[in-house]
Formats: sequence, C-alpha cells, structure tokens
Amino acid sequence: MIVAERKHLKEIQGLVSDQDRILIVGCQECVTVCMAGGEREVGILASSLRLARSREGKPVEILEQTIHRQCDFEFVDELKDKVEGVDCIISMACGVGVQFVAERYVDRWVVPALNTKFAGGTKEIGLWEERCGLCGECILYLTGGVCPIARCSKSLLNGPCGGSQKGKCEVSEDIDCGWQLIYDRLQEKGRLDLLFEFQPPKDWSVARDGGPRKVVREDVML
Ligand code: SF4
Ligand code: SF4
Repeated sequence: MIVAERKHLKEIQGLVSDQDRILIVGCQECVTVCMAGGEREVGILASSLRLARSREGKPVEILEQTIHRQCDFEFVDELKDKVEGVDCIISMACGVGVQFVAERYVDRWVVPALNTKFAGGTKEIGLWEERCGLCGECILYLTGGVCPIARCSKSLLNGPCGGSQKGKCEVSEDIDCGWQLIYDRLQEKGRLDLLFEFQPPKDWSVARDGGPRKVVREDVML
C-alpha cells in the first residue's frame, strides 16, 4: 500500500488560511490503513481547523466526506454535490488521490493534507515500513524476496558496500543492512549461489527516470 503521514496542523492551516468554505475528503483505502486520511482523520482535522479558525476570530465552514478511493474517477465523482458548495478541497489521500480530485474539479483549489512517503506495509500497529522502490522491473527472485532497491540505502544491486556493521547499515544503526538481510535469506534457502549472478546496470528508464509511466491492458478496456 501507499504509506502517508498527515502534515502538521499549522501547515494545513496556512494552506487554507484565505478559504472560508472547505470540503475535507478522506479515502478508505491505503491512508485509512496507515491512519493518515480515513474518515476518523477527516473528523479530527475538521474539528481542529474549526477550533483553530474560531480562535483566530475567522470562523470557517467545513464539510466532510470520505470516499472509497480517491485514485479512481468513479468514486471521485461522488463528491460532486458537496464540491458545489465550497471554494477549496483538502484531500487527505496520497498524492495520487489529490491529483485525481484536482483533475476532476479544475475550478476548485485543491490542497494536500498528507505527505506521501512510500510503498510499504504494516509491520505492527503504528509502524509502517518501506518495501518497494517501484522500479518497474522486479528482481526479488534473485534476492530471496528482499528488495535491494528499497532496503539497501544505496540501492546496490551486486552486494554490500562494505560499511555494514553488525548487520546494520552505515547510514544509521536503526536501519538493517539490506544486503545482510538478502545474504541471511539466501543462506536460509540454500541459494547463496545467486549472489554470484552479476547484475548489469539496471534499466532505470522503466522506473521514474523514464518519465510518468502507464500500464495499459487493452483486453479489459471498454
Ligand atoms: S525490485 Fe523493484 S519492483 Fe521489486 S520490490 Fe524492489 S523496487 Fe519493487
Ligand atoms: S551498509 Fe548495507 S544497506 Fe547500508 S548502504 Fe551499505 S550495503 Fe546498503
């Protein structure tokens, strides 16, 4: 899933300081799971903004709605009636959702309430970790299922850099060395031979470096 984190209230307040009628939109997918932008978080942000604005003597009208997915026009269209009554939309989705809402409601000012962080998962309650760098050409079959792009701080493809200490990355002792994890996993599986397979320079043109990407499935297109 996409993991995001809410911006500080002061920052959001600043982004909408000149707006008097606001719609706050939540998303029921990834950002609900990572507790950043679901229905509950929409309610908290709405109350906090109302309180902050009334303290400033500048009351604000705030509507709230949480839709199934903001990265899908089918659901974004459900906002139509509420959008008509506001000047500004605060999206509590990831950056994708914010852009889909902005694309659909071009005459409204749309601002993000979250910082989109990474593609990852829930390690335990309250802890989410990055697992995939979205490189566009997965090589997990060579690394025992541990991603060298996301889990090695230097995204090395042919073994460790030499800075690892006691299994930790030289960047921080809070970070496991990705290549130590790969080595341990391959050893467990009796596949250390895979470490001898030289990886040529990765083709980053299929990742973000090649510009905005598309997946097209003509077989399911209408
Ligand atoms: S190799 Fe690429 S696609 Fe596979 S997990 Fe790592 S970044 Fe993601
Ligand atoms: S210490 Fe390990 S994780 Fe850190 S940059 Fe070097 S190889 Fe990568």
